[in-house]
Amino acid sequence: MILIGPPGSGKGTQAQRLEQRIGAVHLSTGELLRDEIAAESPLGKTAATYMNAGRLVPDQVAVKVVVDHMDRGDPDADYILDGFPRTTIQAEELDRILGERGLEVGKAVEIYIEDDVLKERLTGRFACVKCGEGYHKSFKRPEIEDVCDKCGSIEFDVRSDDTEETIRTRLGIYHVETAPILPYYENRGLLVKVDGEKSVSDVTKEIELILADVG
Ligand code: AMP
Repeated sequence: MILIGPPGSGKGTQAQRLEQRIGAVHLSTGELLRDEIAAESPLGKTAATYMNAGRLVPDQVAVKVVVDHMDRGDPDADYILDGFPRTTIQAEELDRILGERGLEVGKAVEIYIEDDVLKERLTGRFACVKCGEGYHKSFKRPEIEDVCDKCGSIEFDVRSDDTEETIRTRLGIYHVETAPILPYYENRGLLVKVDGEKSVSDVTKEIELILADVG
């Protein structure tokens, strides 16, 4: 399954919830790229210049992290792709990558949501440094102030690309470069749309129903 949606639409949150429920591997290109940056690898250094500016990394870089991850993993795994593909070239590359492994796209789920709502969501995000649990200063604060609900850590950070200017750039890029891949899946009868303004659990339920349909 592919999750398509603008930054802040909840792709990562939904993929994390679904991973456990449906036993598929959550593959987030954003996370993999942030790991490369943290490891200070050459690929990470290239990616950082694009990511900090809110721009997409070159297609071949995004494709490489996906292929490397799949090559290291279980060949029989099902995947939830979060943040990939993000361009028409990546969508075509994905068909090739999956084809080589005897796999195919089962469903493309678009999480749609207004830009104004997204801006508000993105400007308040922060996450636990230790376990990655996501929070928001208005919508989801830890139950005990400054203590992670999940692991008890007291260290949090804000993504370096969640600044106002970068958010504007990322939303613009979503509309210009990523949204055009929607017809690519719609024409093949694979696209399903989900309202991203519903509650987190309602969105998860809707996606689960969609996946039950794929079997
Ligand atoms: P995300 O965590 O999905 O919001 O991604 C964070 C950033 O990583 C994006 O703003 C891009 O700079 C980069 N990125 C993630 N996935 C891709 C992709 N498929 N193609 C190009 N850039 C990507």
